Formats: sequence, C-alpha cells, structure tokens
Amino acid sequence: MRIRGAVLEEIGRGRPYAGTVPITVCDLELGDPGPTEVLVAIEAAGVCHSDLSVVDGNRPRPLPMLLGHEAAGTVLKVGERVADLVAGQRVVMSFLPRCENCDACDRGGQLPCSAGTRSNTAGELLHHAGHLSRGGDRVRHHLGVSGFATHAVVDRASVVAVGDDVPAEVAALFGCAVLTGGGAVLNVADPSAADSLMVVGLGGVGMAALLTAKAVGVQRVIAVDRMPEKLAMAKELGAAETYTPEQVRAEGIRARYVVECAGHPAAFETAYAATAPGGMTITVGLPAPNATVTLPPLTLTAEARTIVGSYLGSAVPARDIPRYEQLWREGRLPVERLISARIELEQINEAMDLLADGKAVRQIIVFGQNTP
Ligand SMILES: [Zn+2]
Ligand SMILES: [Zn+2]
Repeated sequence: MRIRGAVLEEIGRGRPYAGTVPITVCDLELGDPGPTEVLVAIEAAGVCHSDLSVVDGNRPRPLPMLLGHEAAGTVLKVGERVADLVAGQRVVMSFLPRCENCDACDRGGQLPCSAGTRSNTAGELLHHAGHLSRGGDRVRHHLGVSGFATHAVVDRASVVAVGDDVPAEVAALFGCAVLTGGGAVLNVADPSAADSLMVVGLGGVGMAALLTAKAVGVQRVIAVDRMPEKLAMAKELGAAETYTPEQVRAEGIRARYVVECAGHPAAFETAYAATAPGGMTITVGLPAPNATVTLPPLTLTAEARTIVGSYLGSAVPARDIPRYEQLWREGRLPVERLISARIELEQINEAMDLLADGKAVRQIIVFGQNTP
C-alpha cells in the first residue's frame, strides 16, 4: 500500500535541520504483513532523543531509514499466525521486540533480546528483512517500528494492546519515554516512599521517571537539569527539589537512587557524584559510542555503591505497559503533561532542532484521518 512517512536520507548534516533537511516527508510503498506481523494505522508518534541520535550520527544506522519508534495506533490487519490480536485493536509500539527464544529473553527485562537487537541494528523487522521501499529502492525500518508514517507493518512482538480509553498521544508515550524512565524507577530502583530519588536530565524519559516516582509515592524526588525551564516544569510535576548540575555538586546533594537520563558523560559523572553511600546510580541514557567517564572507584567500594545500566528501563513491555496504563487511568501518572507540542509530520526537521536545543520535552506528531 501507499503510505506517507519521514525518511532520514543522510547522517550528520549540519544545523539547523530546518535548513539542511536531513529528513524528507514522502510517499513510500509498504508491503503486506507477514505471518507474524501486523499492519497498524498510526495515530500519534513522539519525537524522541533516540531519533535525533540517528540524525546527528550518535547512533549510526543504515540509510535511508523511516524514523520513529514511539508510536500508537489501531491494528488494520494481522498475519495468519497472529492469534491474539484482531483488526480494530489499539496498540502501543515497543522498540525492542523480544523473540522469547534467546538467553536474554529468559532473563526478564534485564537484557535486551539478542535477536531483536540484531534486527534493530540492521534496520529490519524481527522476522523479516523489511517491507518499506521507495521507487523500488529499499528503505530501512527504525527499531522495528518506523512510526513517523501514516501506517506501519511491525512484528507482533513490537506491539502491546492498550485500552480504547487511552488517547493515542498518551499511549505513544508509554512505548518509549514511560517504559524507559518509568522502568528505571519501578524495575531497577523499586524505591520505598521514604527513599530519595534523583533524576538527572529532564527530557521525556527523565520527566517520565519523575512522574513514575511520584506515582508510587516517593516523597523526595529531586530533579536536575541545566535548563531553568525544565526545572520549573519538574517542580510543576511534583519534584520536591530542583537543581542545576553545578548546584548538586556545590551543595553536595545526594540521593539513594540516581537515574541518569541525559545520555551524556558529564550527566553520568554528576549522577554518580550525587549517589549516597549504599545507593544506586542507574543509567538509561545512550551516550555516543566513544564517550568515556572518569569516576573515583574508591567510593564504589568504600561506600558500597552500585552502578546499573538499564536498556529500555529493563522493561518487559507486555508486562509493564498495562501497569502504566492502570496508573494513568487512576490519575497517578499524568503523562499527557509531558507533551510540549502537537505537530504535523511535515514539521519533523524543525522538531529535531527544538529537541537538539533542549527546548522540547515531547513533541507529538498527530496523524489525521487514517483511512485504510
Ligand atoms: Zn525513544
Ligand atoms: Zn530474545
């Protein structure tokens, strides 16, 4: 079928992207879903830092690639081996499909599935080389989703069913920002109400970590970012204290759990320095492959500390998304407050500029009438 989508043509074009236009919005051909796959009409897609990381070259991927990995929509068609979904079911996309058949998948959400990681890196689907083309030329899938498009074909393992009462823009956020930030809190830290929890780096993932910590009753949530506007927003979302990284160091602020969400070595060093004795530094950010940090290892031993890396919030999406859905339904996880703008697909290059400048938490691409 004919679809419209946002295709990254070249990595590393200069800024502003509004001028250099690394992403073109164009018509593409989308093949039919295979036996284990579903066709989804996309209703909303979030613009995430991991999309920007492909555009700016921090996470190099094969090109051209139809971007977008945080999305939600309605199933239009299912492959013959998909027994548990029907047309009309609303779904959230999840960007790390699980094969349920490898050593990593045997260990819950602790490790990324090796088959899913392989297909994601290749720009393919879990059980198929890909269904996207343009003028006969292959276009790669982004993280098994490619949600910056009117429609997507994805593996069954890349979607989780969601209730009809959840707006698409909220559902989309569950798939990356909330799974990652929320998962760092629930799956890794698992704090009690009396524990202090600090979030370093207040993009969509960091704000979702903050909201989740609040949702489970953590009293002392500390928010850290360089940008005063983000600290103001964190305060509105319920952070008890807000600081710049410089203030954290100068005032010696420390917390039992510190979640690093910026994906930058300096943020990791701030997070480590702010971790209390006996505490845990959790990192979910994705820095550039050649980035390094300097740490005083004595504190790791002498203060009995832990450093944990967590990909996608150590999530098992089919287990975790219903939990976030329920918290949202109870009014305890107001993730719609993370939405800083609703935009059209054609504004994608401008959206990347705003994200790169730290001026957006979550911009949501809203798709109009998706007539199959
Ligand atoms: Zn993301
Ligand atoms: Zn697996």
